[in-house]
Amino acid sequence: MDYEAVIGLEIHVQLNSETKMFCDCPNRPGDDPNQNICPICLWLPGAIPKFSHEVLEKATLAALVLNCDIQQHNAFDQKVYYYPDLPKGFQLSQFHKPLAKDGWVEITDEDGTRKKIRIHQVHMEEDVAKLVHEIEGRMPISLVDFNRAGTPLIEIVSEPDIRTPHEAMEYIKALRTQIRYVGSAECSMEQGTMRVDANISLRPKGMDQFNTKVEVKNMNSIHNVGDAIAYEIYRQAECLNGGEAIVLHTRLWDPEKRVTVSMRGKFEGPCIPDPSVPQIVISDEWLREMKSRLPEMPHQKVDRFMGDYSLPTDEAVFMSSERDLSDYFETVIKQGVQPRTAVHWIATQLLPSLKDRDHRIADSSVGPERFAALLKMLENDRINAKSAREVLSKLFDSEQTPEEIINTFGYTQVSDTTELEALIDRVLKDNPAAIEDFRNGTEKALGYLVGQAMRTSKGKANPKIVRDILIQKLK
Ligand SMILES: [Zn+2]
Repeated sequence: MDYEAVIGLEIHVQLNSETKMFCDCPNRPGDDPNQNICPICLWLPGAIPKFSHEVLEKATLAALVLNCDIQQHNAFDQKVYYYPDLPKGFQLSQFHKPLAKDGWVEITDEDGTRKKIRIHQVHMEEDVAKLVHEIEGRMPISLVDFNRAGTPLIEIVSEPDIRTPHEAMEYIKALRTQIRYVGSAECSMEQGTMRVDANISLRPKGMDQFNTKVEVKNMNSIHNVGDAIAYEIYRQAECLNGGEAIVLHTRLWDPEKRVTVSMRGKFEGPCIPDPSVPQIVISDEWLREMKSRLPEMPHQKVDRFMGDYSLPTDEAVFMSSERDLSDYFETVIKQGVQPRTAVHWIATQLLPSLKDRDHRIADSSVGPERFAALLKMLENDRINAKSAREVLSKLFDSEQTPEEIINTFGYTQVSDTTELEALIDRVLKDNPAAIEDFRNGTEKALGYLVGQAMRTSKGKANPKIVRDILIQKLK
């Protein structure tokens, strides 16, 4: 039988606020264990949570860029369960009155068609502590790190609109781009600031009922999400074809074996309104202020880049894909570099160099001003492309300006025709066979002679001028 998958994603995103959600402890889960703690986030009896305004702002901005309606009244509930990473016995979350509802993001499906994935709701939730499992002597032990306890999350719950692993991956990428743009979170699955759970069920193609779903957790990259969903669709189809019923349960993705493994029956504890955090009332005026803070979003930027800088669509989309990247690109252009030169050199030289060094573009040691200075010397024929690549790699390890590096290491391009003519005469004298080949119609011989001249100049000759002089002399 032909099946269709019905997929909904629940995505937890850790907000990058300065403090935790209900206390003044720093929101830095990577610090040494149990450094960022206080009676409130240790959940000691009697501690009163104090809701952070910054968290509300970051959560609201994220919900707005996901096209959600912000709810004027929202409130926290106690999601009850008992586990060593949650000694108070409940997590503060929003269930009955979430922050925001009815959003959407747009994706491109496999056929290149635009499709809207609806978002059911976005709500705020405190994170729990982290269990660390170790071996002491021969004893397995579990330790609790409370740095993460009480750090702010938003949970984004999609409608079951996703049909394929591809759509799921596109949805996560679109959501990540939007939230990063507004600056509310880093959204890195690898670093655990974005965690994705997938609910998957199958139904005969063409039907519109919903069948029992299975929840899959533990994917730590967008690719893993695609693979886990693809595997789960295959597994459930096999079950159904064999006459086996699907039961509601949770499975873990095993990235080594590339399969999902049954974990436990799905437990949903009760959610009861929390009496300690006052209801949040959002005024029209405050919401207007939040909306005025929204930056230019990627789709608007693509249009502007195509109009203002005459970039082709694919280049405009690429340069708009991350806010840090587009800011860098525009700063380079403002220094007077041609847009296409900037795109080409950022995409083919700068980004790979940053990747090799594990640097982010926002805090790259080669800032946009130095990079622009280098590109301008290339555009003005002061240096050639080969030298520009070498200067770039030196820029990463030095404080010098491109100008200083070029002077120190003698990268200045030789464009002086008298000097180049003398050099080319020497090359011709040493290569009579290549001249012969060229005159007999072997085009390759010209390339060889240009190469020899470049080598003799130690890479500093202007290759265009070398070529012109050679053609003239070989006539
Ligand atoms: Zn605290």
